[in-house]
Amino acid sequence: MGRTVAVIGGGISGLAAAWELGRSGADLSVTVLEGTDRVGGKLRLADVDGARIDVGAESVLARRPEALTLIEQLGVERLTTHPGPAGASIVSRGGRWPMPRGTLMGVPSDPESVRGLLTDEEVERLAHEKVEGPVVGDVSVGDLVDARLGRAVTDRLVEPLLAGVYAGHARDISAEQAVPVLAAAAHDGRPLLEVARAAAEAGAKGVTAGRPVFASLVGGLGTLPEVLERALAAAGVEVRKSVVARGLRRDGDGWVVSTGPTTHVVEERFDAVVVAVPAAPTSRLLRHVAPAAAAALASIEYASMAIVTFALEGPVPEVMDSSGFLVPPTESLTIKASTFSSVKWPWLAAAHPGRTFLRASVGRHREESSLQRPDDELVDVALTDLRTVLGPDLPDPADVHVQRWGGGLPQYAVGHRSRLAPTRGLPPGLALCGAAYDGVGIPACIASGRAAARSVLTR
Ligand SMILES: Cc1cc2nc3c(=O)[nH]c(=O)nc-3n(C[C@H](O)[C@H](O)[C@H](O)COP(=O)(O)OP(=O)(O)OC[C@H]3O[C@@H](n4cnc5c(N)ncnc54)[C@H](O)[C@@H]3O)c2cc1C
Repeated sequence: MGRTVAVIGGGISGLAAAWELGRSGADLSVTVLEGTDRVGGKLRLADVDGARIDVGAESVLARRPEALTLIEQLGVERLTTHPGPAGASIVSRGGRWPMPRGTLMGVPSDPESVRGLLTDEEVERLAHEKVEGPVVGDVSVGDLVDARLGRAVTDRLVEPLLAGVYAGHARDISAEQAVPVLAAAAHDGRPLLEVARAAAEAGAKGVTAGRPVFASLVGGLGTLPEVLERALAAAGVEVRKSVVARGLRRDGDGWVVSTGPTTHVVEERFDAVVVAVPAAPTSRLLRHVAPAAAAALASIEYASMAIVTFALEGPVPEVMDSSGFLVPPTESLTIKASTFSSVKWPWLAAAHPGRTFLRASVGRHREESSLQRPDDELVDVALTDLRTVLGPDLPDPADVHVQRWGGGLPQYAVGHRSRLAPTRGLPPGLALCGAAYDGVGIPACIASGRAAARSVLTR
């Protein structure tokens, strides 16, 4: 018999690791152990008014290759789809403004492009960037932008864009990890405006010019784990659900994974293990086999959030004239963003022409209080906020769905990369992957899963 490998966690990272192992051509027996009764983790579909739509992650960055390559390898590239032409908007001082073009995570490439959204005084401050000496070490994105371009740029542009990715706060999040080109400019003492301008020019004229920035699948991104699960079965990978991994110990040159309830622990030996679960359960699993890595992982905080999806009867109301909006924390609203799904995704509008779907997200890092209310109150709060932004005529929903994501997104605090150094020196045959390490986006997770699989193969 060949070598045995366990992949703990059946989110996109673990499934990508299993896919890489399954297609390696090596003589392997691969088993995925997933704690819940479904694979996919943060990729999830739910029934809203008779339609199956995404209630978790909904798109992938198409400027990175990993997700599109996986989709191609799975043979479903014909289902790849892109957002429609309507851009997003941003709420500022009670108004809704078109998202300025060519910003780099909110840093404008042209100060004039944000006039109106920012006051004349704020634009003036932004236009006169204060470049003071090279920054040593990591710094938060917000602190860097505050010092260089003024607090209004952080508050009204960078915060909402970063919150869209991390559900976190710009003044806590590592520049090195979240926007490495801005961190590099800080280290070299170069102006951020210059870097944003260069990025905008590269976007307009480079190899990716004119190509869509985001992609998804017809039927929803939540179909990706379903397709992967079928492909893994066809490749001989065993996916076991409702199996929670509780312990990990060394056994000669292999590993023993314990699963099952504490009253009936089941132990199974594998030659190698890929751990693809969030930081807290990974930390618990590594406690005895890699204590320094376990301690580092225990320090990673997560943001909880909820996605409230509404189905309205009838065609898209005129007021929904963008793909959605972002809300900076300076506004007195509870929701932090809304996506007009039927506008953003033409496939969805075509599949359900008589209905309009939109969703609102609630919850930022360390602001769990906004989520500590029953579902019907959460729905009321989200609907009230939507009416504040879109006007009181927004009709009552025909159906609503609330998806809570407790511990949904890891927070990359300043110093994240060096803090996680112990996770990069593990014993042979053990590898980690997932959103906690080097990117929360799906392409980054896929890359980390595949890299973890290759590392246990080569060892
Ligand atoms: C609401 C929301 C929207 C998002 N939108 C986007 C988006 O549009 N685009 C994008 O690129 N990214 C998005 N993200 C981020 C991205 O979806 C996630 O970072 C990514 O899916 C994480 O994948 P993962 O496999 O690392 O972890 P997870 O998805 O968390 O998967 C981990 C899996 O491990 C299982 N597990 C946990 N503990 C155990 C255990 N002890 N034993 C066995 N199994 C266990 C869990 O049940 C889960 O299935 C979003 C995130 C959230 C929360």
